[in-house]
Amino acid sequence: MTTSVPSHNETPGTHRKGYVYIIGAGPGDPELLTLKGERVLREADVILYDDLVSSELIERFHAQKIYTGKRKDSHHFEQDEINEEIVRHALQGKKVARLKGGDPFVFGRGGEEIEVLRNNGIGYEIIPGITAAHGASAYTEIPLTMRKISSSVAFCTGHPINKIQVPDADTLVYYMVASSVHDVLDAVVNKGWKDDTKVAIVQNATRYNQKIFTGTLGELRKREKALYSPALLILGANINQFIENNWYSKKKKVLITGDNEMGFNSEKYIVVPFPCHRVEGADQDTVNQCFKTIDDYSVLLFPSRLSVTYFFRYMHEFGKDVRFLGNHKIYTSSHAAYTELLKYGVIADLHPETERSGEMITIFREKGVEHENILLPCSNNGNNEYLTLALTALHNRVTPLSVYYQGSHKQGETLDLDFIDEIYFSSPACVRNFKSCYKTIPEKITVTTANNTTENEFRMLFMNH
Ligand code: SAH
Repeated sequence: MTTSVPSHNETPGTHRKGYVYIIGAGPGDPELLTLKGERVLREADVILYDDLVSSELIERFHAQKIYTGKRKDSHHFEQDEINEEIVRHALQGKKVARLKGGDPFVFGRGGEEIEVLRNNGIGYEIIPGITAAHGASAYTEIPLTMRKISSSVAFCTGHPINKIQVPDADTLVYYMVASSVHDVLDAVVNKGWKDDTKVAIVQNATRYNQKIFTGTLGELRKREKALYSPALLILGANINQFIENNWYSKKKKVLITGDNEMGFNSEKYIVVPFPCHRVEGADQDTVNQCFKTIDDYSVLLFPSRLSVTYFFRYMHEFGKDVRFLGNHKIYTSSHAAYTELLKYGVIADLHPETERSGEMITIFREKGVEHENILLPCSNNGNNEYLTLALTALHNRVTPLSVYYQGSHKQGETLDLDFIDEIYFSSPACVRNFKSCYKTIPEKITVTTANNTTENEFRMLFMNH
């Protein structure tokens, strides 16, 4: 008996016209995304995202991604164009995720976007996000209200300068103050706020490079004008003495190169990822074609962790579970692939005991792996040649199937090493990739490496011996 698996694109009632989710990404720390937002982003066909959405967050999802911000090196999107782009994708019947920094309805122009959707008869939902004020408040220990000290809070904007408002509230939070901090402070003083009022500027709130500037209203007005971006200005008596030494600033920041998930204790560390490779899913149609003839193969050989992850993802999307592979022998040529398979309830029939290259070839020879028809799910970069050659020499037929693509990684946002305490290099390739972005490593940074070859590469490239 066959049953049909519902398409992941189906949204009740709005099947043909597509559907749009306006999602708040939160202030920066990727873990501050809601569970609902995360689910929808995983299911989306296309994600249109803004400047303030961190690349670390966006890289977790595999939909088509369209940057709609104003970065200098790419097309500058005006709001009308963004609206058109959202509508265009929705009318193609897609599940569209419109991802915005913070909350879509707090200085986020979410209101304008839904108006356009309404006018075009396109169904939508709004998923709230943690707004920058809430993120900054939590990650700097500034309560926005506090019994007996502050019983009201107002969110305001420092832009445009000639329209700065100073509402009657105990705590004021100003957004968009990059170049207008002094204008806001002047407006606040004109409204009668005292020179000894406590003030904090929180830049890059909830990110590894969060920075806080504090003082009184009088002191900050005397300081030189500076550009703070993105930053919030907070004023009020609830700014306490803990702010400089808050829980977030006490953590060590460790930069992890590569896709190695190290067990850094989150109570002590903030992990800042530095991927060496850009990874994307392969062409689903080609993979599906291969699934249709899966019974032609006698063996599946997984060389890497990602080959397992992507193969199983496509297999599930194809509507199949592990029983689909019930008649196949399953081999891995790395320990990482072996442990990844265990997550899917599969114990590989053959796997290496150590990470020594070439060990698998000995195993294949000893176990008499001959005359098999082997499917090799892998990436496009073809570095499995030694496996293929050895298996072919043993009279096996090996068919590679690209289930993911790897390209060199361009760091979207350049990382500021001044904020980093430790760097972990997971492979020699990661050392080389890092060297192409940064010529030197500041002395205060501790460096650790995964193994001897990585250590040697690091010494050669960064220590000149
Ligand atoms: N919808 C967003 C705000 C967009 S307006 C939200 O709810 O947070 C852009 C402004 O938000 C920036 O100029 C800055 O004032 C503020 N902002 C966004 N992310 C921030 C961050 N991580 N740290 C400090 N300010 C931030």
